[in-house]
Amino acid sequence: METRDNEAGCSIRALPDHLLVAAAATAIEVNPVNAPMRAPGGGVPSGVLEPEHIALLTSKYWGPQPRQLSVSFLEPTGPDLRARILSHMNVWSNSCGVSFAETDEAGDVRVSLQPGGYWSYLGTDIRLVPPDQQTMNLEGFSMQTPESEYHRVVRHETGHTLGFPHEHMRRELVARIDPAKAYAYFLATQGWDRQEVDQQVLTPLDDASILGTPPDQDSIMCYQLPGSITVDGLPIRGGTDVNATDAAFAASVYPKAVSAPPSQRTAAAAGDAKVTA
Ligand SMILES: [Zn+2]
Repeated sequence: METRDNEAGCSIRALPDHLLVAAAATAIEVNPVNAPMRAPGGGVPSGVLEPEHIALLTSKYWGPQPRQLSVSFLEPTGPDLRARILSHMNVWSNSCGVSFAETDEAGDVRVSLQPGGYWSYLGTDIRLVPPDQQTMNLEGFSMQTPESEYHRVVRHETGHTLGFPHEHMRRELVARIDPAKAYAYFLATQGWDRQEVDQQVLTPLDDASILGTPPDQDSIMCYQLPGSITVDGLPIRGGTDVNATDAAFAASVYPKAVSAPPSQRTAAAAGDAKVTA
């Protein structure tokens, strides 16, 4: 399949700097496992790092207890289109304990279809977005948009809302990217300056902050990157749908049902991540 340049266009929307420490506190309040000191393989000594640094190392996963996030639309949006978007968001709920339901009020997740590309804030960060602003942007999505784009984009952005970062930021995949070529490529295709490329593409996720599964270039959270920017000349394939690894990981972070008391649930979620590391 030909490389489609617009596919690399998703950026994870970051909160403004003055909210980063508050966002980290929210993430840890919602789900203590988000704290870097508790992350699998972490062991960051407390008292050594500034709050701003700790904030950068904090994950943004929702807690392991099953939950429903409400969804609203910023602009008037037809019921068929709203239902179609919701159905793709809820593909994740087939395998995990987080589901999405429409609300007439300002939702936890607020979708806009206006210009600005495809993006979402990460996990619990959506709690700090002003209620009159979107947490997810799906530029131009309509009933005419191909089904494959709903699979590739809506499911991907929903993964960010679940707290999943970009799979292509994994250290093993970042190491395959030639920085000079990446700067030129993303400037030409996305208009990103070097700092944006560093943030969105070239800075590996902290090993302690994630996942516990091997890097998976077919993950829905991995965007296709062309061979023209890799060191070995081979493309990073990128995912086009939620795959079995994505579903299994989502199920491990967000069990569909739990019977243990809350304190044990949290420990179990951390344990799962360790077991699969
Ligand atoms: Zn993305």
